[in-house]
Amino acid sequence: MATVGFLGLGIMGHAMAANLVKAGFDVTVWNRTASKCATLVAAGAKQAATPREVAESCDITIAMLADPAASREACFGKDGVLAGLAQGRGYIDMSTVDDDTAREIAEAVTAKGARFLEAPVSGTKKPAEDGTLVILAGGDRSLYDEAGPLFDKLGKKRVFLGNVGQGARMKLVVNMIMGQMMVALSEGLALGLKGDLDGEQILDVLEAGAMACPIFKGKGPMLLRGDATTSFPLKHMQKDLRLAVALSEQLGQSLQGGSTANEIFKRANIAGHGDADIAAVYRVVQ
Ligand code: NAP
Repeated sequence: MATVGFLGLGIMGHAMAANLVKAGFDVTVWNRTASKCATLVAAGAKQAATPREVAESCDITIAMLADPAASREACFGKDGVLAGLAQGRGYIDMSTVDDDTAREIAEAVTAKGARFLEAPVSGTKKPAEDGTLVILAGGDRSLYDEAGPLFDKLGKKRVFLGNVGQGARMKLVVNMIMGQMMVALSEGLALGLKGDLDGEQILDVLEAGAMACPIFKGKGPMLLRGDATTSFPLKHMQKDLRLAVALSEQLGQSLQGGSTANEIFKRANIAGHGDADIAAVYRVVQ
């Protein structure tokens, strides 16, 4: 069984690494804030001092980090992954980043004779805990196949999308749609409540029709309760919308809805809701 490294123990990474430990993999963890390693070490994981140490000691190293800056730092920084990777080793970045970042990391990793796979995920805290994420992979096919047993502990579905960059693009497309759905739900509820409709009844009607979906079912009651307990930090959704808008510039695709959603999430971020759940976007829409 491959030895597995795991970098980044935030909301998603901690739950994902815990599933790998629970499944019996030999896991070595690292997190910038080292104290977040404690519960995983208590569950049987080893702890490393740097990403380099993780990459040196593991067959496959996985990263689940905040954003492109964090992914680059963990790879290219002092005592980063790149410094520790040897010929044939695997590096899988599951963070949500832009396709340029994924390709730059891939080029550097392959230049060292190691293998790279991007594998961002669809699904939030609960699917990460339940091992029911959807994994969107691109890059080295042999690493994708080799990591199959790991992915099957993390997700319920995985797709191989071809070259590095296609996984990032798929993830940005999906979240650009979700960002707009959150804005639409927020505006619909705000408008309805001002028009003396009952919020529960609005959600009930949505649920009964063609727009019934888990995101409305999950977030709708949170919006009505004013609950923004964090599963998906709002600042990360704004990052994804910003990256989707940048991709639209690059590809020459108009993105009016996505740009508007980006501005609304940006406003919520600036207003101090960045660490709250994406449900907090309702607070600036109201
Ligand atoms: P999170 O809770 O904010 O965790 C972010 C992680 O990145 C932490 O381990 C943090 O370390 C680390 N980090 C941040 N900046 C760093 C840097 N410069 N160098 C090294 N490490 C750094 O985020 P999350 O919700 O787990 O999300 C992780 C990734 O998955 C993001 O790309 C996000 O867009 C994506 N994603 C999230 C969800 C979701 O629902 N939450 C769903 C799908 C995809 P510290 O602990 O030291 O801060």
